[in-house]
Amino acid sequence: MKFHILTLFPEMILGGLNLSILGKAAENNIISINAVDIREYSREKHRKVDDYPYGGGAGMLMQAQPVYDAHRVVTGGRPVRTIYVTPQGEPFTQMKAEELAGEEELVLLCGHYEGIDERVLEEIVTDYISIGDYVLTGGELPAMVMVDAISRLIPGVLGNDISSEEESFHNDLLEYPHYSRPECWHGKKVPEVLLSGNHRKVAAWRLEQSLRRTEERRPDLYARYQAKEALVRQLSREKRNHIHMMESLSRGYAEILYVSQAVYIKSLKSEKDIKKREQSENIEVLLYDRRNKICMVSARDIVSEEDLGHFLPESTEYIISSQTLAEQKQYQRYLTCSIMLYTQKVSLPLKYKEIRLLSPADLPLLECFGAEFSCGIHWEKQSNVHGESAGNYIWDRMEKGALYGVFAEGKLAGVAGIHKGGGMGLLYVDTPYRRQGIAMSLVAYVVNRILEKGWTPYGYVPAENTAAEKLLEGLGFYTASKKVDIYIKLQKILANEI
Ligand code: SAM
Repeated sequence: MKFHILTLFPEMILGGLNLSILGKAAENNIISINAVDIREYSREKHRKVDDYPYGGGAGMLMQAQPVYDAHRVVTGGRPVRTIYVTPQGEPFTQMKAEELAGEEELVLLCGHYEGIDERVLEEIVTDYISIGDYVLTGGELPAMVMVDAISRLIPGVLGNDISSEEESFHNDLLEYPHYSRPECWHGKKVPEVLLSGNHRKVAAWRLEQSLRRTEERRPDLYARYQAKEALVRQLSREKRNHIHMMESLSRGYAEILYVSQAVYIKSLKSEKDIKKREQSENIEVLLYDRRNKICMVSARDIVSEEDLGHFLPESTEYIISSQTLAEQKQYQRYLTCSIMLYTQKVSLPLKYKEIRLLSPADLPLLECFGAEFSCGIHWEKQSNVHGESAGNYIWDRMEKGALYGVFAEGKLAGVAGIHKGGGMGLLYVDTPYRRQGIAMSLVAYVVNRILEKGWTPYGYVPAENTAAEKLLEGLGFYTASKKVDIYIKLQKILANEI
């Protein structure tokens, strides 16, 4: 990820961001921080960049021209997402950080004095973001806050192999309290359960503490958490058909955009976070996974893009719908799938044990796979350490720690993984290694990884793929009675980005 920060105080940015974890990430070329001095673009003798505001009033204003020129030089005219940090923007949240972490490049514009001439903002800014309802003297601290929160979500920055995507701020719950040595300090003992070595009990204690703490300190988050939990319970009455929605909610990926009156009355106590729009009685539940840009729809009857238009965030790239989408203009049907789920809690045995997580460095290993390898998606055999592989789905999955490989005779024999949004898939076994139970071991391995997280494994199986369906049935998966359609934004298909 490349951050360009347009500022009057580049030394403040570099001094603050070049240390510790982010400094390491920059050193390892995982992120780059380009602090651009707006004064360099002043056309005045003394590098002046501010002037009095028309109409009078206190304070000075940053002028349009230097900001515009600095932006032009940094972007070279490319359409790069440009954020003006301002108390007048939308609030910066973990959800927003996750969304922005998906960009390849960002420009952050820091204001000073009373702000910046409106005309240049109109020309270059795509997003207005505030870090809180208070006014600071300049945009440098807000920009640094944002760079920090976004960077730690970028794979490799925190140094953990498996997806930071799965470890971040979840479920609208605050974290439980932490303790380290010594066991007794100022007469206060570490809670007994943490010394017990019983992982299940520790997890239960931590959840209880999280719930209590959130209720006490952040009743607003707690209400949202309860609304999600209530909806999960409601959806669980038809678990097989709703597992993708339930998992997306309970893994903390999805927010509730809409719940119909019928479902709402039965399941939800808190009205606060749910937008109710009576004109869409056809839609029962609408969820949005902001990080993966996936909208999930449960509806009674055929829905139109217009029906969804009231709710659909503009950034939506995929729609997973239990009903056919009529009048497709922006989205095109890509696949019809059965949902299959594994409801047992016991992990599966493995015949082949040479299975491991793949990383982008393993990309060349996939090159020996025949043309048939596509995992139902297009991919390009490109490897690029600077992340210029935008749109390469396989690359993205490897980068997020969501693709596993099985090895036989020292060679990569097949892959399987987790799709954006959390469904299992991407299964491929190379021709010479088929019919030996390799695929089964590989899928079992992915199932076990998902179970370890306390989640329910599920996957979308394309309607015509009976081999995959049989394989999953053999492992104990059930098939949902309703199929789902997966739609993809036309622009993405045209740009060959999937
Ligand atoms: N007159 C401006 C207003 O009322 O909106 C405030 C200007 S403030 C003194 C100077 C700069 O600090 C802003 O242009 C903005 O870039 C930054 N800033 C101040 N508070 C901020 C906040 N809460 N979130 C993001 N940026 C902020």
